[in-house]
Amino acid sequence: MSYEQKLFFLLVILVVIPCIVLATFSLQAILGQRELIEQKIKESYTALAYSIHKRVFDRVKAKENQVSGILHKQVWLGKEPAIPNLSTPLNDPFFKSVYVVDNEYTILYPKERPHYAVAEVTMLAENYNIFENAHLYEFQKNDFIGAIAEYQKIVAEEKGQKLETLGYALFAIARCQTKTGQTDKAMETYQYLATLFRDRSDPQGIHFLANAKAQIAGIYKMQKDVFAYYQTLLELFAFLFYNEYRLPHALYCYHSQMLTQRLSQMEEDAGLLAEEKGKLLEQRRKIWRDRDIMLAVETALNTTRKYLLPQLKIALEKRNANHGYLDYQIGSQHFLAYYQAIDMGDNNTAYVVYTLDLQYAIDDIILPILQSQGGGKDVWFTVIDREEKAVISVAPAQFFLVVSQSLSPAFPFWQVAVYLKNIRSLDELSRYRSQIYVGGLVVVVVILLIGIYITIATFVHEVKTVRMQSDFLSNISHELKTPLTSIKMFAETLLLERTRNKEEQKECLQIIAAETDRLRRLIDIILEFAKMKQHKKIFQFAPHDLKDLLQETVDYFKTQIPDKDKVVEMTVACEAGLPQVVIDREAMVEAITNLLSNAYKYNDKPHKKIEVSCQKFSANRVVIAVKDNGIGIPKQEQRRIFQKFYRIQNPQARHIEGTGLGLSLVESIVKAHHGKMKVQSKLGVGSEFSIVLPFNRAQA
Ligand code: ADP
Repeated sequence: MSYEQKLFFLLVILVVIPCIVLATFSLQAILGQRELIEQKIKESYTALAYSIHKRVFDRVKAKENQVSGILHKQVWLGKEPAIPNLSTPLNDPFFKSVYVVDNEYTILYPKERPHYAVAEVTMLAENYNIFENAHLYEFQKNDFIGAIAEYQKIVAEEKGQKLETLGYALFAIARCQTKTGQTDKAMETYQYLATLFRDRSDPQGIHFLANAKAQIAGIYKMQKDVFAYYQTLLELFAFLFYNEYRLPHALYCYHSQMLTQRLSQMEEDAGLLAEEKGKLLEQRRKIWRDRDIMLAVETALNTTRKYLLPQLKIALEKRNANHGYLDYQIGSQHFLAYYQAIDMGDNNTAYVVYTLDLQYAIDDIILPILQSQGGGKDVWFTVIDREEKAVISVAPAQFFLVVSQSLSPAFPFWQVAVYLKNIRSLDELSRYRSQIYVGGLVVVVVILLIGIYITIATFVHEVKTVRMQSDFLSNISHELKTPLTSIKMFAETLLLERTRNKEEQKECLQIIAAETDRLRRLIDIILEFAKMKQHKKIFQFAPHDLKDLLQETVDYFKTQIPDKDKVVEMTVACEAGLPQVVIDREAMVEAITNLLSNAYKYNDKPHKKIEVSCQKFSANRVVIAVKDNGIGIPKQEQRRIFQKFYRIQNPQARHIEGTGLGLSLVESIVKAHHGKMKVQSKLGVGSEFSIVLPFNRAQA
């Protein structure tokens, strides 16, 4: 196995396979980004949601004991105040209202005064006929005196028997007395009627009493006794309102509206003295405040019955837990409540239901927790409802909802939401991140591959250089040996006086001199090359005439060619009027001599032709060319021949002596002149080496 192959396998096993495995795992991890991010966000928001629940639950739990204590002492049940305190019984802004419900879902607290059913107010239908005669006098004959007499007959008969009939008859008398102008008498009748029904707590009784009082007030008004008029109205209102028993709803509303409207005129009534007015207004303020509270309680109770209790029922039937959250919706608004079972003794269970203030939950529980989460300039936390509408802090336009986590069980209708700037979804975020990671991975892999390539190339190059160096050593030893052998041989010939005549002696000495020259040239090349490579070569630049230089070099080269090879034609052609070129003369001669030597060496033609030329290449450059009709250089070798120690291994050139340093040296010299080397060649036809030089290297 060659070095290269070994290296290749080593790299595959130690670098490429681990890289592929690593890249595959990384890719998998990258592609699993979405789940990873989602899981990470979800985890952190589950923790967030949990801390919100815990805070809410702790608050609710803390109340549980308080409520049990209060219930235990029976502060609420049975002993509650006339006007129930629905809004803040626990003195905690988080709890809007508290209800106590028994296991039949009847509200025990706050206690509501029941309304009587309409049917309980009789219209006297069953004994209406006894008024027939009296009605005839009153409504058809318009004989009010006669009518009074008829009504009084009924009063006398019915007295102590049927109170409803008596009440109706007395009303009729008072009405007729008013019609005949006997106001005082009418007043008396009404007052008698009021006393008669004062202690009645049934709806019928309350109805008569209320009507009697209203009539009395009316008479006061007629008599211009304004203070008594309002005082009576206020008494009537208090009677209707604070009474433990209540009229049927419609009647109550009728009275309540009528009284409210009349009492509203109090401020503008000029008939009242300032002092009287102050007193009356004070009374009115108290009654109206209590009435508003009662109305609110009534509304709240209705809502509770309609929305909250069905939820409680479902929760108890489904979950069978003794505490939990209840949520319900009225219109688009969400409500939240919490219930807990309370042991009432005697195997009785009641449920305490608290409605919770959601705005308070947001402002004082959720928001501080969210804010403690921080969030950066690219992240926005908020709470959204099921329609993804923000309940708190609406995210700015360029932020998009990426992930949300339900706030169940406390706030099932809300979610904690995370918005990210300019990223529309989790998919986009993970795609965006994956792209960055894949990009990074690709860059790393590419760099790795480039690194591997460079390592291999450098290694292969070094291996080749080492091989070429060893070739060089064997070449050079051969190159050195050949002239030395012939020097030794001819020196011995001379020493042993084996020459026959002076001619032969001279020939021997000429050969010795030529071989010594060859040796010196060889050593020169090696030394020059070493100097160049170690950058120890000192150039002496000066302007020179190229034509002269080339001519002299060619002339000298000719003298070095052995006589038998004189079948070589060498020409020098230079463009006329070329300016002088700034060069190191000695180095340039060396370079051209090398080119000439190659042109001569690598030529198997019987008639060798070498053409040396120089001409302008561009405005500030000149080109020197050495063209031969030699063996030529294969295309793929034309670049490599400039490498140090490189020699073409073709059969035609193999036997030709050389070191592989010549062209490398030439190129180094040309580069020191800021010039360039070029080669054009065709196998079997010949080669042309060109040196392109600036006229003045300083301007190159
Ligand atoms: P050397 O001649 O000492 O081998 P060089 O560096 O001068 O080393 O040349 C490198 C190789 O280029 C030579 O081995 C030869 O094969 C090829 N070469 C150089 N000049 C010519 C030429 N003029 N014609 C054909 N081949 C050439």
